[in-house]
Amino acid sequence: MSVRNVLKYGTQSLREPSKEVHKVSKKISDLVHDLLETMYAKNGVGLAAPQIGVNYRVFVIDVSSNDEPLHPLVFINPKIIKKSGAIISNEGCLSFPEAYTDVRRYKNVTVKALDINGRPFIMEANGGTLLTRAIQHEFDHLDGILFIDHCVNRFDADGVLAKYDLPPIDPDKLISEPELEAELNND
Ligand code: ZN
Repeated sequence: MSVRNVLKYGTQSLREPSKEVHKVSKKISDLVHDLLETMYAKNGVGLAAPQIGVNYRVFVIDVSSNDEPLHPLVFINPKIIKKSGAIISNEGCLSFPEAYTDVRRYKNVTVKALDINGRPFIMEANGGTLLTRAIQHEFDHLDGILFIDHCVNRFDADGVLAKYDLPPIDPDKLISEPELEAELNND
């Protein structure tokens, strides 16, 4: 197990879709341990395999606070099977050191995945909690989607990226989210 280098925004492989895991082998469990170790070393809430240069559909999350025991969650081949509601979430990412911006997210999601032992589980995360948002954020990484693609204001986001010497928004990657926007405007 080791702390791995986290790829920075601008690296092409962060934009590539990741492959399904066919078997939760030793290689995959080693990958999970490296993800966890790296996430904890960098004080992240979540980390996806493509962020350490491995394009497999695996991510980890831990939303416990500093005074709580660790509570690692492992998601292999995740699928979001239900989503509803909308919220604005101020997010950052270990691949975007120090850069935070507001993005649109679903308020409730249900995810189905395999755990570290290859057993299927279903998890509901409701109410726009940190877990709800982290699941959506990490899931996106597996399809080469980054949080800035969901930004509420691309000009604000560009300002933040420039401030931290990161490449600008790629307009072709921006995601149109009329349903989320409509829901947010109703509130
Ligand atoms: Zn991220």
